[in-house]
Amino acid sequence: MRHGNLFVISGPSGAGKGTLVARLLREVPDAWVSRSVTTRAPREGEVDGVHYRFATAEEFQNLVDTDGLLEWATYAGNRYGTPRATVEEHMARGDQVILEIDVQGAFQVRDKMPSAHLVFIEPPSLEVLEERLRGRGTETDEVIEKRMQAAAVELSHKMEYDMRLVNDNLDEAVAALVGYVNEQAEKARG
Ligand code: 5GP
Repeated sequence: MRHGNLFVISGPSGAGKGTLVARLLREVPDAWVSRSVTTRAPREGEVDGVHYRFATAEEFQNLVDTDGLLEWATYAGNRYGTPRATVEEHMARGDQVILEIDVQGAFQVRDKMPSAHLVFIEPPSLEVLEERLRGRGTETDEVIEKRMQAAAVELSHKMEYDMRLVNDNLDEAVAALVGYVNEQAEKARG
């Protein structure tokens, strides 16, 4: 049976993971990205079922209780989790499965699936990260503060990842990420 590969992409909010993953999906035909469930309120422009599945605290807890999540974590005051069933489906299909999740989730995935490849996306600096968060224009000062604190914690774990990538130049970062995914997929094929 074909079996896909699992790639975990982490890094501080604002490091540019979303943009990198969107580009990766265009360049790797069998890449598939999981859609997370979150209790966070949608930002302006975010659509339920597209960016996230937005859930109430009760709905989220129900998924935890019924073993519906592969991993979950609380990040900056909200809960986030990866639905188990769709990930398993795409792994069975032989896809390159991408999870864009925080460091707590990344280590849960590594415990459950030791063959997962963990990639950490670093912003060029904390100053650039803060500028990017402010530049979104969607977050309050309090939220930005919480996210900068979370970023410092996340950065302290970067050496535990299999690969680190500084997102300074987007095209170069995309090329490095695509190269890594293709290389690991090739290795797994033997
Ligand atoms: P945001 O609120 O900016 O969309 O996401 C905040 C953080 O939560 C990001 O670091 C993002 O990667 C992470 N995240 C998103 N979905 C999940 C998930 O399903 N599980 C975990 N553990 N983290 C997630």
